[in-house]
Amino acid sequence: MKPTLIRNAHIHAPDPLGPQDILIAGHSIAAVEPSIDLAGAHVHILEANGRILVPGLVDALTHPCGGGGEGGFGNRTPELSAADFAQAGITSPVGALGTDSITRSLEVLFGHIMGLRAQGIDAYMYTGAYRVPPATLTGEVMRDLVLIDPIIGVGEVAISDHRSSAPTIEELRRIGADSRVGGIVAGKAGTILVHVGDGEIGLSPLREALKGSDLPITTFYPTHANRNQRLLADAMDFARGGAAIDFTVSTTPEFIADGEVPALRALREALTNDIPADRLTMSSDAGGSLPHYKDGELVGLQPAPPSSLIQSLREAASVSDELFTAALAAMTRNPARVLGLAQKGRIHPGHDADLLLLDADSLALTDVMCRGRWLFRDNQLLC
Ligand code: ZN
Repeated sequence: MKPTLIRNAHIHAPDPLGPQDILIAGHSIAAVEPSIDLAGAHVHILEANGRILVPGLVDALTHPCGGGGEGGFGNRTPELSAADFAQAGITSPVGALGTDSITRSLEVLFGHIMGLRAQGIDAYMYTGAYRVPPATLTGEVMRDLVLIDPIIGVGEVAISDHRSSAPTIEELRRIGADSRVGGIVAGKAGTILVHVGDGEIGLSPLREALKGSDLPITTFYPTHANRNQRLLADAMDFARGGAAIDFTVSTTPEFIADGEVPALRALREALTNDIPADRLTMSSDAGGSLPHYKDGELVGLQPAPPSSLIQSLREAASVSDELFTAALAAMTRNPARVLGLAQKGRIHPGHDADLLLLDADSLALTDVMCRGRWLFRDNQLLC
C-alpha cells in the first residue's frame, strides 16, 4: 500500500498544532511536520487546503446491535452499520448491550463488532450488560477479557436505576476485581462502564464498593453523569477522587426539560469546577433508546444517533476555541486513555491513522480514515 501524504491541514491533535503535513504509512501515522517533502509515484498526495484534521472519534458507549425494548418488542431500536459510524466520524465505537440482554446477546454483539472490523471500523466491546451477575461469552468476566480480543472492559453495569438488577456491593466488588485482574493479564484497561440512572442513591454504591476493597477508583467509569444536576455534582466529586466520568451527548428536548444537563454545559461546568480535563469524556449512546417516562409509564422512545458527537463538536466550535479543544479531547484522547486504547485518540507519529477531515468553515465531515483505510472520501462512502 502506497503511503499517503496529506498536505496543509490545520491539525487538532486534539491540541491545536496549526498547519501541518501528515504522512500515513500502512495503518499508522508516520510523521506530523510543518512541511514534508515527498514526491513522485510512490506516494498518494492529498491537498487538505486548510481543512481541519482531527483524530477519529472514540465513542465509549454505543449499542451497535440496537437497544431498547422497554415498553415491549415494538420499541426495539435497529442495528448500526459501518456506514452509520463512518458518516458520524466514529472510528472506534465501543459496543455494549443494555437493558435487554435476553433477546440481544454477547454472541450477537461479538458478531456485529467483528463485522464492523471487517468493514474497516476499529470497533471494541464490553462484556456484561445492565444485569448482574454479568452475561459473559466464556462463563467468566476475567476469561472474556483475557481470551477475546475486542473485549476491553465490562458494561454497562446499571446502578441507581429502576431498570438495574440492584447489584449488591459485594457483586460490584467482585466484578471490579475480575475485570481488573483480567485487564492486567491481557494488557487491557478492564474498565467498568457504569450506567447510572435517576435513583436517589447516585454513585454511592460505587463509593461503598471501593471503600471496602483495594480497587482503584479508576476501576469504575460512570456514564450518563449529566443526567441531572444532582448526579453531575455527585460525579464531579467522584472525578475529583481520580475517576473518569462520561457525559451522554444524545438527548431530547423532553430530557432537557426534565432536568438533564446538556453534555457541553456539563463539560464547561466540570472544567469551571477544576476537574482535570483528561478525566472528562463524551459518548453518543448511539443505537440506545431515548425513552421518555411519565409517572413511571413509558410514553415514547427514539434511537440515539451516532451523529450527536460530531454535532456537539460543531456546537462547541461555535462557542469558543477552548470549548472545541476540550470537547474534541473528550471524544478522542480522553476516552482512549480511560479505555486503554493506547494507539487511539491522537494525531501523533506511531498512533493508528484514524483521522477526520472537516470543512474549515462549516466543520462538515468530508473524509474519514481508519487505520490507514479511507471509509469516507470526498463525501463518498467507501464502506
Ligand atoms: Zn446507559
